[in-house]
Amino acid sequence: MRQKFIFVTGGVVSSLGKGLASAAIGALLESRGLNIMLKKLDPYINVDPGTMNPFQHGEVFVTEDGAETDLDLGHYERFTNAAISKRCNFTTGQVYDTVISKERRGEYLGGTVQVIPHITDEIKRRILDVDDGIDVVIVEIGGTVGDIESLPFLEAIRQLRNDLGKENSLFIHLTLIPFIKTADEMKSKPTQHSVKELRGIGIQPDILLCRTERVLSQGLKDKISLFCNVDKDAVIAAKDVGDIYEVPIVYHNEGLDEKITKLLNIWAKKPDLSQWEGIADTIRNPRDEVHIAVVGKYVKLKDSYKSLNEALVHGGIANSCRVIPHYIDSEDLEKSLSSELLDVDGILVPGGFGDRGIEGKINAIAHAREKKVPYFGLCLGMQLAVVEIVRHLAGCEGANSCEFNENTPYPIIYLIEAWVDRNNELQKRDKFSNLGGTMRLGAYPCQLTPGSLAHKAYGKDLIDERHRHRYEFNMDFREKLENCGTLISGISPDGTLVEIIELKDHPWFLACQFHPEFKSKPFNPHPLFREFIKASLTHKQEKQQCKKK
Ligand code: GLN
Repeated sequence: MRQKFIFVTGGVVSSLGKGLASAAIGALLESRGLNIMLKKLDPYINVDPGTMNPFQHGEVFVTEDGAETDLDLGHYERFTNAAISKRCNFTTGQVYDTVISKERRGEYLGGTVQVIPHITDEIKRRILDVDDGIDVVIVEIGGTVGDIESLPFLEAIRQLRNDLGKENSLFIHLTLIPFIKTADEMKSKPTQHSVKELRGIGIQPDILLCRTERVLSQGLKDKISLFCNVDKDAVIAAKDVGDIYEVPIVYHNEGLDEKITKLLNIWAKKPDLSQWEGIADTIRNPRDEVHIAVVGKYVKLKDSYKSLNEALVHGGIANSCRVIPHYIDSEDLEKSLSSELLDVDGILVPGGFGDRGIEGKINAIAHAREKKVPYFGLCLGMQLAVVEIVRHLAGCEGANSCEFNENTPYPIIYLIEAWVDRNNELQKRDKFSNLGGTMRLGAYPCQLTPGSLAHKAYGKDLIDERHRHRYEFNMDFREKLENCGTLISGISPDGTLVEIIELKDHPWFLACQFHPEFKSKPFNPHPLFREFIKASLTHKQEKQQCKKK
């Protein structure tokens, strides 16, 4: 069967949750037995989001095949079973890069290279690059209708409608219906304008997904249908929900999947949403709650730790408990530990770059180690854990990562000068490598040590986890580290790279060089998050018992 395409655009304002909407549509179609794929098109000029500031852009999501992508791809992976890869995200920068390289090679035979058709053709080629066996491809166009930057993308999907035909393509537009307090009314005008703008460039949306705070009355739906020229049953209310995992259920109750399958003329079975209902129910009715400190740098912008936040929720689902994260700025812990940190049931130090707040993180780790508070370190959180351990337990004063002090007497975390494969070309990783270039990226195998916390959590010997970092543990210090009670519980199969460490004399102190948060799903919580939350719950109960005594 030929694939069908759903194009998701956004109007009125940004941040309406197009990524989440696309992921939820994917989930609904999967629940009807369809094979789906998702793609995100980013209109900015950067070649990839790898070098973009997390304060501005949110988290960089890493795929199994090592692409640094937009955080919406994280939603796609968490909500669906689609095999998300490099091919699922591209930017204007990549499109121009390809077209300009072709031009330099003379492939346009001296013709004038233009936005239409050359740029739009390259966009179309990348959209249509899909494996056999996929029934529906959901394509999310980044940005908001009306932006200059997204025009070539919109032009490309306008053309695709003609190329593919009506039953093989569908336009879904996500808009906002604001509630104006003074008038005590919900307003459809911004949606009308946004649709007008879309129609001005030749796109008539088939379905409107209307974000609202309140229930959308049938009267207002009818009005939107009339003014925006869409079917009455194609005006879907996307009412705010308490939890993102309720979105597929809300869309289904509004008839979205029914309408999509009708318009695309696909035969599909009735959806089975029991799993989603189960998740929503567990989140709504937790049996317990646990407080976790996330000691990091990008604590002001929630999106910077998107996957981490979700993985904590999943860890909670696995233990029927609500996880309450406390994002603590590590710079505030440099002189003394705050009462907020002292009160939590578990401490996590996530990944990060740059030396700001490093000593504050080390202080938090020392506290977790000494006071036997469950500790979970991710990437930088592992590097700093080993720094803390050798500094304080092996007497290596001044030990550090070379990222923060190149002249440290104990370079416990350092740059392995290695050739790394990036986009099928080898690049040298050394102190001169440029920022976007030479990280260890994507999935790598890791051998687990029998009897370790990690081995018990995963229940197997060999795992695959995703990386995004430049620095590694320095094997010259292996003995020093092991002699002070550390167990190396995960190592690369060739024995050269330390991937997981644990403390033997501690209820749960585990840190890994990879990013487990990228692989956690609501239906399949990551084993390390599951066990960390479990250990934190136990710690909480023990604290309570001590108080009673
Ligand atoms: N900055 C560290 C490195 O590059 C850790 C990176 C991370 O936490 N993702 O190795």
